[in-house]
Amino acid sequence: MSCAAIDLKGYLLGELEEAERARVRAHLADCAACREELERLKLTQAALLTLREEEIPRRIAFVSDPVFERPWWKRWWAAGPQWAFASALVLALAIVAHGLLQPSPPPAPAVDTAAIEQRLRAEFQQQLERAVREAVAQSEARQQQRIREAVAAARREWEFQRKADLLAVEENFNVLKKRMNVLQIYLASNLEGGVR
Ligand SMILES: [Zn+2]
Repeated sequence: MSCAAIDLKGYLLGELEEAERARVRAHLADCAACREELERLKLTQAALLTLREEEIPRRIAFVSDPVFERPWWKRWWAAGPQWAFASALVLALAIVAHGLLQPSPPPAPAVDTAAIEQRLRAEFQQQLERAVREAVAQSEARQQQRIREAVAAARREWEFQRKADLLAVEENFNVLKKRMNVLQIYLASNLEGGVR
């Protein structure tokens, strides 16, 4: 089998059917040139994989554009037979050129970490204070409820006691009245008798 019929790219990218993979493996076992080419492709792929994948700002293209289906280097990689046996050197030069031609990224806005930290701390402080206030309010509400219940219970107890006292007074008064009556009757009878 001739080297031209061997799809090393497809083999490397895992795109081949198992029968085709076996065919490539068998060829690689016998062909030093293709083993060397495969090694170059592997190195190139590893280098390409380290590149950033988004080189086109999304705002100037629709997301449905095929350009977003694969990163540029994979499209380039799979572009056609003219690149199939491109040497690692050519690709490496292209990578360097790509790196040089990349517009330098706009300067990142200065991030004031101290201010962010301060803001986060202030937010945390606010949340903490709010949580404490709520906890205190709930505690106070429970406390007030307990006090209300205690007062109500004391009042019930007091009213019960007062009623009991009133009953006792009334009872005593009645007893006293009866005794007075008895005394009156006694006195009256005695006086009557004395007069008599
Ligand atoms: Zn070969």
